[in-house]
Parts: sequence; C-alpha cells; structure tokens
Amino acid sequence: MAGFDLSGKRAFVTGANTGIGQGIAIALAEAGADIVAVGRSAMKETCARVERLGRNCSEIIVDLSDMRAAVAALEDAWNSGGPIDILVNNAGMIRRADAIDFTEEDWDAVIDLNLKTAFFLCQAFARRALAAEREGRIVNIASLLSFQGGIRIPSYTASKSGLAGLTRLLACEWAAKSINVNAIAPGYIETNNTEALRNDEKRRTEILGRIPAGRWGQPGDIGGAAVFLASEAATYVHGVVLPVDGGWLAR
Ligand code: NAP
Repeated sequence: MAGFDLSGKRAFVTGANTGIGQGIAIALAEAGADIVAVGRSAMKETCARVERLGRNCSEIIVDLSDMRAAVAALEDAWNSGGPIDILVNNAGMIRRADAIDFTEEDWDAVIDLNLKTAFFLCQAFARRALAAEREGRIVNIASLLSFQGGIRIPSYTASKSGLAGLTRLLACEWAAKSINVNAIAPGYIETNNTEALRNDEKRRTEILGRIPAGRWGQPGDIGGAAVFLASEAATYVHGVVLPVDGGWLAR
C-alpha cells in the first residue's frame, strides 16, 4: 500500500505562524517534510516545533494580500532552497458585516487574499513543477462556506466557494500532469478566525449544539487530512474538497 511518509519532501505553507496553518506545518513535519513557513508574522514558534521534530524550517515574511509579492516568495523559495513538492494555501481572512452594509474594502481585502493570491500561487507552483517535470501536491484550505451560505460574511463565502470551484478546475487541468489539486474544508476550529464567534455566547452554543462530534475542532485536527492529500496514498485523488468538520455537513 502506498504510504503517508513525506520524507525528502518540501512544503510551502502559507499562514503557518498560528492556527490551522501551524497545525498543518507540524503534521507535515511529523510525516517527514521540511517546511517553508510563509506569512506576515514571525514563524518562530512554528519553526521551533518543526525543528524539534528534526525537520528543516525556513521562514519567509511577506504580505500575501499582494499577489505579486506572494508569487515572488514562492519563486525565491524555489530558487534558493530547491524544489517545492507541496503547496498549502492556508492564509486567509474573514470580515463580518451584514450584506446590506458590506463595503468594497471588505470585499476586496478578502477576495484578494483568499482567492486571488491562492490562485496565482497555484499557477506559480504548477509552472515550476511542470517546467522541472516534477510531481506536485496542492492543498487549498476551503471552508464549510464552500458548501453553505453562512451569514454576515459575503466576501468570505464568495472566496471559499470560489476556491472550491478553482480546486476542481485546476484538478481537471493538471491531474494528468501529476499535480494533484485538492482542498480541505475545516469545520469550526478554535483559532483567531473564529474568536468573534466564540466570544458570542449565543452563537458559540448554537454552533456547538450542531456539531455531531460534540466539540469545536483544534488546529491539530486538520493535519492528518493534509498529510494524506500530500502523500503517495492520495495519488489518485483529484479535485476533492474534504470536510474535516466533526460531522457538521452530515447533519
Ligand atoms: P487564523 O489564526 O486567523 O490564521 C490565518 C492565517 O493567515 C494567519 O497565519 C495569518 O497571519 C495569515 N494571514 C492573514 N492575512 C495575511 C496576509 N495579508 N499576509 C500573510 N498572511 C496572512 O485562522 P485559521 O482558522 O487558522 O485560518 C486558516 C485558514 O483556515 C483560513 O484560510 C481560514 O479561512 C480557514 N478556515 C478556518 C476555519 C476555522 O474554523 N477556524 C474554518 C474553515 C476554514 P497573522 O497571524 O499574521 O494574522
């Protein structure tokens, strides 16, 4: 059986300083991968934890809202550190307001980071992988809002629904070229992204009451799915959006 070992692989993980990105970086390192931790904040804690696992960790500080800067970071990482095998598009943001009041600024900020940068990082990664005749794995971090509407988060829902569609499109274009494009749809995970929800006692309780697993998720709950999608075990898996949600969508 094809395994889950990622020894000798190198993963470029965006938003790896905290939350789900940090959980994924550590899980990939546990499976044997070296990590390029990318984002706008210092990656000190993530790199310390990766290095304690005996894996290499390099940090790139960049504002990923700027698509060109994001692509340049991937190019730099490839040119200076060698080929990248796994791209995890995890960095993302959310803005909350009623649709009736939603501003252009809140629309553009979320779409630019969650959708535009994610697409152009996929493109830059695939261009390099194809030119080098190397296999590649892309794992996009989607959301329950790739399947559902939600409320008060119009640009976030549009971005995550768009990311699910893009994941399928890119899988169709690249599956025969040995680049697997898949996504993970995390459920409700305890990170900065959901702080406002968790601070709202009514929403927190309503959400918890709907999760079959009976608890909110932790960043570490997402790591196993990322390892699977990055590994040999998922060689024939293309274009899926895999929910890791404590059963939320099954309800
Ligand atoms: P988080 O703790 O807020 O993490 C978001 C990450 O993106 C952080 O590393 C953040 O860096 C980074 N980031 C934001 N804006 C950036 C920018 N302009 N340039 C570079 N990096 C930037 O929340 P999270 O829950 O772990 O989110 C990770 C991903 O999971 C996001 O795509 C989110 O939409 C998705 N997701 C989360 C949940 C959930 O329940 N938590 C559910 C479904 C999907 P800073 O720390 O510097 O801000």
